[in-house]
Amino acid sequence: MSAIEVRGLSKSFGGREVLRGVDLDVATGEVAIVLGPSGSGKSTLLRCINHLERPDAGYVRVNGDVIGYREARRRDGETVLRELPPREVAGQRRRIGMVFQQFNLFPHFTVLENLTEGQLAGGISPDEAAERGRALLARVGLAGREKSYPSHLSGGQQQRVAIARTLALQPDVVLFDEPTSALDPELVGEVLAVIRDLAESGMTLVVVTHEIGFARDVADTVIFMDDGRIVETGRPEQIFAAAEHPRTREFLAAVR
Ligand code: ADP
Ligand code: MG
Repeated sequence: MSAIEVRGLSKSFGGREVLRGVDLDVATGEVAIVLGPSGSGKSTLLRCINHLERPDAGYVRVNGDVIGYREARRRDGETVLRELPPREVAGQRRRIGMVFQQFNLFPHFTVLENLTEGQLAGGISPDEAAERGRALLARVGLAGREKSYPSHLSGGQQQRVAIARTLALQPDVVLFDEPTSALDPELVGEVLAVIRDLAESGMTLVVVTHEIGFARDVADTVIFMDDGRIVETGRPEQIFAAAEHPRTREFLAAVR
C-alpha cells in the first residue's frame, strides 16, 4: 500500500484547469521531490493532498483512507464517496503535516507554546506536549530557544520551529511547499539539513522545491510538473542526467 495515493486529481479555479488528472504514488519512507515552473500546479497538488483544497474530481488516499470522504457501499454494491463532516476532515488532516514557504508561527506565543498549542487539541497532557516539544526543538537544533518569541529568531530558525511544530502532531506524511523560498540564501542550508535528517530517518516526504542540488542528493523520486500534469517521474540520477521529456530538460537547463 502506498503512503500517498493520488488518482485522477483535477482542480479548476474560475474555469481554468490547474490540475488535469494527476496520478501519483508515494511509498512509505519515500522522499518525492516535485519540480516545475511557477503556476504548474505544485502548490495546488499539495493543498489537495491535505484537503485544504477540495478536488473537483479524483481522490487522495493517505495510508488507505480517502481524505475528506468516507467510502460507503450503496445497496446495489457500488462504492461511493460521501463527504466527511469538517471535524473528521480536521482529524485526518492532523496526519498530513504541511510546511509552507511562510512559517506562520503564532507571534504572541513562545517557541515552545507554538509547539504545544496544536498538540493539546489532540488531547495529550500539557507536560507530555511540552516534553515532546523540547525534544523536537533539540532535533531541529534549537534546544534552549523554548522561551524565545518568533520575532527574535532568524527566518531559518523560524522555519525550523515550523517544521518541529508539524512533527509534534506526529503526522504519517509531511508535505513541504517551497520551504526555503522565503529565506535569505545563507539560511537555506540549515533548513535543508533538517529536512534531510527527516528523510534519512525514514519519514514519508513530498517536497516542492527549486533546490536542485538538494533534490539530487535527497530524492528517491523526482516528479516534474508542467501545466497541471505530471510530465515525468524518475530516479534523480535518471531525471538529471537524461530526462526523457523536452519540457523537463528545458526546465532543468534554465534553473541550473
Ligand atoms: P505552483 O505552486 O506550481 O506555482 P499553483 O498550484 O500555486 O502553482 O497555481 C497554479 C495555478 O492556479 C496558477 O495559475 C494560480 O494562479 C492558480 N491558482 C492557485 N490557487 C488559486 C486560487 N485559490 N484561486 C484562483 N487561482 C488559483
Ligand atoms: Mg507554489
